[in-house]
Amino acid sequence: MADPATETAVYDELVSATKETAMLGAVESLLGWDERTYLPTKAASYRADQQALLSGIIHQHKTAPKIGEAIQTLASSDLASDPNSVVGANIRCLKREYDKKTKVPQELVEALTRATVLGQQSWVEARKNDDFEGFRPQLEEIIRLKIEQAQAVGFEECAYDALLDDYEPEAKTSEVARVLAGLREELAPLVAEIADASQRPDVSILHRNFLTAQQASFGTQAAAKIGFDFDSGRLDVTHHPFCTTLGPNDIRLTTRYDEQFFPSAFFGTLHEAGHGIYEQGLPVDQHGLPAGMYASLGIHESQSRLWENMVGRSEAFWDHFFAPAQKTFSSLADISKDQFYAAINNVSPSLIRVEADEATYNLHIIIRFELEQALVNGECQVADLPAAWNEKYEHYLGITPPNNADGVLQDVHWSAGLFGYFPTYSLGNLYAAQLFNQAEKDLGDFAPQFAKGEFAPLLGWLRENVHQAGQRWPAATLVEKIAGEPIDHKPLIDYLRGKLAPIYGL
Ligand code: ZN
Repeated sequence: MADPATETAVYDELVSATKETAMLGAVESLLGWDERTYLPTKAASYRADQQALLSGIIHQHKTAPKIGEAIQTLASSDLASDPNSVVGANIRCLKREYDKKTKVPQELVEALTRATVLGQQSWVEARKNDDFEGFRPQLEEIIRLKIEQAQAVGFEECAYDALLDDYEPEAKTSEVARVLAGLREELAPLVAEIADASQRPDVSILHRNFLTAQQASFGTQAAAKIGFDFDSGRLDVTHHPFCTTLGPNDIRLTTRYDEQFFPSAFFGTLHEAGHGIYEQGLPVDQHGLPAGMYASLGIHESQSRLWENMVGRSEAFWDHFFAPAQKTFSSLADISKDQFYAAINNVSPSLIRVEADEATYNLHIIIRFELEQALVNGECQVADLPAAWNEKYEHYLGITPPNNADGVLQDVHWSAGLFGYFPTYSLGNLYAAQLFNQAEKDLGDFAPQFAKGEFAPLLGWLRENVHQAGQRWPAATLVEKIAGEPIDHKPLIDYLRGKLAPIYGL
């Protein structure tokens, strides 16, 4: 075994090599951000080649034998003795990533990058023209490559485990299925009760005219008010909103505007700002290393959901923001705050996941989670996917999509090769409820602060407990450490019922 001075030198070298690879990763992210915001359509093929090339170079860096040797030396050293210390977590997580990555051949990495860049271009066209058949060959190729990837990495119970693990490290398909089933069992009766309620919000007030320029200005101000730093980020327009990090002080938010529907861009912006606020709160000195990176996509989503829903759709939030909203949008002049608050919390089964309300949202996720597992384990063929999709929408939500554009083609994820990603949205909802509960236990009721436009105490709590932790603990362990109990669907159900019961007179 090496002596402590040598071990420290090996660690420092590993840190500098990892940070350098992270810089290449940021360049790759920049190409990806541009591809989804400003790239001319005819430039897609060359961009796909650029991304494939860069992705291959990054893979080479991450899997270089000298990285493996350094990790091997450090894994058995004193530096790794506490797996949750900054240094220990960096070694533990880098070892985990190295072990996974060295199992995937570089040709497969490059093939996946090329297939998914072309897949996303093909999806944009297919969605625009309601042409699933035009997208089908690309999707079949992506799924074939994802299964190959799962087999190369290996798994204990099912191939889907290996894919889920990319987004929610250490989570198991069987465990996620169990928690989501518990949620579904309590959610379905609540949604049914709401469907039968005689008291209903008037949602037509949200379908009036809201000019894009005014929405952009109002949404930007709200995102800044809750804590997104626009000196370290920006907001642009895209087809399917996302947030990406191009460096420690460069967080890119995106949104899309609908002039006839207020919530789409506004809550989309708050959602992406929640992601961005998390990225801006990660430890800067650890940028590019696991201790400076998000814990999991589930934790990432918990931050966006918390700001979008638990804060942005709360009554207290609109005690503060409704007057400015009325000033900005003349179409809200004759509306009361109570009418507006009820309308933005409307619950009813709908076709589009990203427009879905908080209560039915998880049913959209459960549908995708089940279909993904069926596609990966061969129970469902891509050719049968539109029919399987429509059948599940009828079964869980009681509605059938009128076309594929508003059905199976609505999400970018599969075209981008993101299998195993969807369940992290629901995990995010569950984590968010548990974290928000604990924050109120620690700091008291937030409503009086929100009503005054004060969000700094909640932000500070999240910075200290969630953001600064980086990847020092796996997601489920982190939540349990903070909230004092394991992941559970009850806090989310209690939160939903507590808010919706007065609105619907339950
Ligand atoms: Zn999100």
